[in-house]
Amino acid sequence: MKRIAILGSTGSIGRSALSVIEAQAGRLEVVGLAAGRNAGLLAEQAGRHRPRIVAASTPDALDRARAALRGAGVKVERACAGRDGLLAVATHPAADLVLCATAGTAGLDATLAAIDAGKTIALANKEVLVMAGGLMMRAARRRGVAILPVDSEHNAIHQCVHGRDPQEVRRLILTASGGPFRERPAAELEAVTPREALDHPTWRMGPKITVDSATLMNKGLEVIEARWLFDAPPDRIDVVVHPQSIVHSLVELRDGSVIAQLGVTDMRLPIQYAFSYPERWEAPLPALDLARCGRLDFDRPDLERFPCLALAYRALRGPTALPIILNAANERAVEAFLEGRLGFTAIPAAIEQALDAGERRQAGDVRTLAAVRDVDAWARRFTDELIRGLESGQ
Ligand code: MG
Repeated sequence: MKRIAILGSTGSIGRSALSVIEAQAGRLEVVGLAAGRNAGLLAEQAGRHRPRIVAASTPDALDRARAALRGAGVKVERACAGRDGLLAVATHPAADLVLCATAGTAGLDATLAAIDAGKTIALANKEVLVMAGGLMMRAARRRGVAILPVDSEHNAIHQCVHGRDPQEVRRLILTASGGPFRERPAAELEAVTPREALDHPTWRMGPKITVDSATLMNKGLEVIEARWLFDAPPDRIDVVVHPQSIVHSLVELRDGSVIAQLGVTDMRLPIQYAFSYPERWEAPLPALDLARCGRLDFDRPDLERFPCLALAYRALRGPTALPIILNAANERAVEAFLEGRLGFTAIPAAIEQALDAGERRQAGDVRTLAAVRDVDAWARRFTDELIRGLESGQ
């Protein structure tokens, strides 16, 4: 029996993970659930999966979850809130594997704590690697902990390189759906609304990552993620647009052979792979019907219309402070876009200005979690001020 703690249980990945655990009830068991403020769903999940520990992001949400659990007659050994709650779930002694699926940067400390506690990590939160990839991978090596990617592209690459000598691999090729504006002319991009950006053609995901898919920043963050997960320099990581999202990613080998992983677009597949690894289990999912897919298209990404991808390569090639700035500026800009305070094409413009300012500030390599936080906080402040300036028409 593999015992699992989930950070971010009420989000899209967390819910899919619980459905995988339910389908593999003889092999997987939930020991901890950490959620944000969705107390109702957290209580419902706890009632169903009976974890030993639950955590909510605020004391208020925890109170509401507790009340709901009492009402349903469900007892949980431990219930806690805030950062300490998240850490307690991430390091619970009974957990073998921790699924890190909190959105954004909240999961950084918790993921590192789980690594230090010797837990196997199933990683769905790409920001963790974008901000502190070097730190995370060093900690994982030191502790002998496996970091298994849940992000579908990296999960695909993990499957393609599994069991191979790293020397055999020449290039990693990440596929990108291209998002909802793949064919939208540049002139029309300025006016796109949050509602349009949230309508992703192939995947159903949370709002932040869906906007990131529309700007191609999601792929940019994934390039950085791949750099750390597979220890590959940026010039050996490529992106190809593949609107059908059937080929989840590919690797090119030394002799020119290309190995791809294909599958239905369902996150339960990469989640189960990470949970079952190094075994492979049956999954209650429909088989991939290639004849029904009909055709698979591939195209080069358009960096003129979607500058976010180029910005991510720029950040990755620079000192390690730059990806932190890229990520922080992107989070703030996307939030402002979702609130209707910033235009779609102003997202990359704001990120570019933050990178420029970071370089002027001579942002260097970042070696500690405290330094990661400092750079992150600076970049958020900078971007917030920039957006406020734009709003007041400066
Ligand atoms: Mg992905």
